[in-house]
Amino acid sequence: MTVLSSSSASLYFSNPTLPTSTHLHSQRRRLYLSSRGTQTTIDTPSLKPSLRSKPQVIVVGAGLAGLAAATKLNSENIPFLLVEASDSVGGRVRTDVVDSFLLDRGFQIFITAYPEARKLLDYQSLNLQKFYSGARVYFDGEFHNVADPWRHFSDSIGALTNPIGTILDKLLIALTRLRASSLSDEEILSSNEVSTIELLRKTGFSNSIIDRFYRPFFGGIFFDRELETTSRLFDFIFKCLALGDNTLPANGIASIPNQLAAKLPPDSIKLNSKVASIDFGTSNPVTLTLKNGEILSSQNGVILAVEEPEAQKLLAGKSADKPVQKKPARSTVCLYFSTDPSGLPDPDPVLYLNGSGKGIVNNMFCPTNVAPSYGPPGKALVSVSLIGSFNDLSGWFGESKVGSWSHLRTYRVRFAQPNQSPPTGLMKGPRVGPQVYVCGDYQNWATFDGALVSGRRAVEALLEDNRVPARLL
Ligand SMILES: Cc1cc2nc3c(=O)[nH]c(=O)nc-3n(C[C@H](O)[C@H](O)[C@H](O)COP(=O)(O)OP(=O)(O)OC[C@H]3O[C@@H](n4cnc5c(N)ncnc54)[C@H](O)[C@@H]3O)c2cc1C
Repeated sequence: MTVLSSSSASLYFSNPTLPTSTHLHSQRRRLYLSSRGTQTTIDTPSLKPSLRSKPQVIVVGAGLAGLAAATKLNSENIPFLLVEASDSVGGRVRTDVVDSFLLDRGFQIFITAYPEARKLLDYQSLNLQKFYSGARVYFDGEFHNVADPWRHFSDSIGALTNPIGTILDKLLIALTRLRASSLSDEEILSSNEVSTIELLRKTGFSNSIIDRFYRPFFGGIFFDRELETTSRLFDFIFKCLALGDNTLPANGIASIPNQLAAKLPPDSIKLNSKVASIDFGTSNPVTLTLKNGEILSSQNGVILAVEEPEAQKLLAGKSADKPVQKKPARSTVCLYFSTDPSGLPDPDPVLYLNGSGKGIVNNMFCPTNVAPSYGPPGKALVSVSLIGSFNDLSGWFGESKVGSWSHLRTYRVRFAQPNQSPPTGLMKGPRVGPQVYVCGDYQNWATFDGALVSGRRAVEALLEDNRVPARLL
């Protein structure tokens, strides 16, 4: 993949004869139009030689949704341009290198069973490193295991009588696993919904397992310790956890978007290019004005793959169907520390949860225990996630260990995820105006997977709208 900075991309737009690979790509001049499972190939009627250098579709935002949209366009041989405000692809899924440590921008795990991700990603090249399937819960001054009985049978038997829930709770976990795994994704995502906390109570879980395990574990996944998030998302994640592994790519979570970007045509990504406004309806084609004043237009449509608040801003007053954010977003803070391996509690690739109900730390783990490549040789990395600010791990592991950690960096992610408490529509339609489509995690289920699906669906809608009636073929 070659990416363009704002200035080189302007050149691309102002010089239609420039022989870039994108031009070769666009010379196919064909739009593949899918209709109800069948695919038809036609010459695009609106193409004129003078427009040859122009992409037929512009995707705004190179997070997972935008990259999935670009991947789908690419697979359909439709020339496109992916325009991104920041200096790299990935959106919320990025990794920084600091003092030879890999710092993901917030605690993120990749679940291998995500169905859309399985179709799009090459897992082998991601070199996925596994977490222990379970967690170690801090409660009453001690650590207690919660283990997946299918993968760590003896650990789970040993955990049956610990204070992280009753024996009945542990049987209910197994039943919930079976129930969620037996449902199709479609059934889960369109099922009757309640909040996760309501589902857990209705299922019969005790307050002790809810407070000591579910609040920190699913609260950490949803950034929502109150567990107001829809039961649909709970079931979807539970199913994926049951069917797949929790992992980190050896080269950081950003390897996921980087892998998608690497398969796109050279010069199809334009970085450092923030879209300031979009104009559609009165003008044809849709036009985008960048912050630097540059104007882009596309022949067949624009897909807005920006995060929900930004989509609202760009579409304000322009679309009756614009995304409406009714609920406050979910936020998180992630702190990283470096230490010597002797400063770690243990060498296990395990997630620690705060089941004590006290303090502000929700969870912590040592990325270098999961993937040694997250740190330089002889050094260890500690990741601490919280709601609030940092202070109370000394009580967990002792001042001598925690005091040895050197703070590396703190990520405060104000918009970590959209709020997905009921009522949710996890399969929202992508059309917001003539030739304008939206995608992003807020359109579907707010995960890597939901973002990828939303990107594909936006392109499918665009293809459907550009479909030429059969009688013209
Ligand atoms: C800390 C954290 C941990 C997470 N952990 C997990 C996890 O473990 N598992 C999981 O499945 N999900 C996790 N998620 C959620 C997941 O990362 C998101 O659901 C998903 O990445 C969203 O992708 P997206 O493409 O919809 O949005 P984004 O990633 O936000 O992409 C939007 C892109 O649009 C660009 N953009 C915005 N405005 C403009 C503009 N005006 N012009 C041009 N470009 C613009 C942005 O720069 C960005 O690149 C986590 C999220 C966070 C923040």
